[in-house]
Amino acid sequence: MKKYYFGSNLKMYKTIRETTAYLTSLAELTNDIGREKIELFIIPSYTSLEQASASVDHGLIRLGAQNMCWEEQGQFTGEISPLMLQETEMDLVMIGHSERRHVFGERDEEENRKVKCALDHGLTALLCIGETAEDKQYGVGPEVLRMQLKKGFHEIDSASVGKLWVAYEPVWSIGVNGTPATAEYAEKMHGEIKKCLEEMFGEKSREIPVLYGGSVNPDNGEELIVQPSIDGLFVGRAAWQADRFNELIRNAMKAVGL
Ligand code: PEP
Repeated sequence: MKKYYFGSNLKMYKTIRETTAYLTSLAELTNDIGREKIELFIIPSYTSLEQASASVDHGLIRLGAQNMCWEEQGQFTGEISPLMLQETEMDLVMIGHSERRHVFGERDEEENRKVKCALDHGLTALLCIGETAEDKQYGVGPEVLRMQLKKGFHEIDSASVGKLWVAYEPVWSIGVNGTPATAEYAEKMHGEIKKCLEEMFGEKSREIPVLYGGSVNPDNGEELIVQPSIDGLFVGRAAWQADRFNELIRNAMKAVGL
């Protein structure tokens, strides 16, 4: 049975108290959904991680950090070490979110160092990739995704695929000014991503879930999740109220017959 992934990045929203209240509510609301069917994960702000981790059953909701340095320690002011994430018992770390790449100027080479470091520290690496509106306009979206995957997962052994997740988030689709990708477009790009992952990791690549993110909402969640190459939904704004996210998850599950 195919497992579906649902997650949210809380970005620079929610205080510690708001995060723990949100997680408690989300855990309660989704408690009855068998976790053999879905993987539910939330990525709060750094300051919330310790209390978030202590307040939630990781079997119900996996937790992740929004970014991480590739070194354990050193002269990296403002960065967070993998050891610090281990200390808060994080399950995963998001790497290369669109805002990290396009607001803070991160490059594929850095994402690759972070992916390697995450794996070395037993963390699942959620690599975010996506083409810009300009890439799309020039028709080079698939090439850009290939480059981000090949560089981001450079020198990663196929033995590690169990700890790799990918989120396809077209830059033009994210956030308040974003336009959601159509289900047809998203499916086409997911197909390209899966083809590239297969070239890189062979059959084992099928273990890597590829999630769609970018203005997912209650109106488009179902048509996206039923696409054969989409393994999950990575949701921003529409997930930040626990009851709305619960509803979105349940509607998506119904759509795929779970
Ligand atoms: C995101 O920023 O990763 C995201 C998916 O945001 P939204 O759903 O709000 O577009």
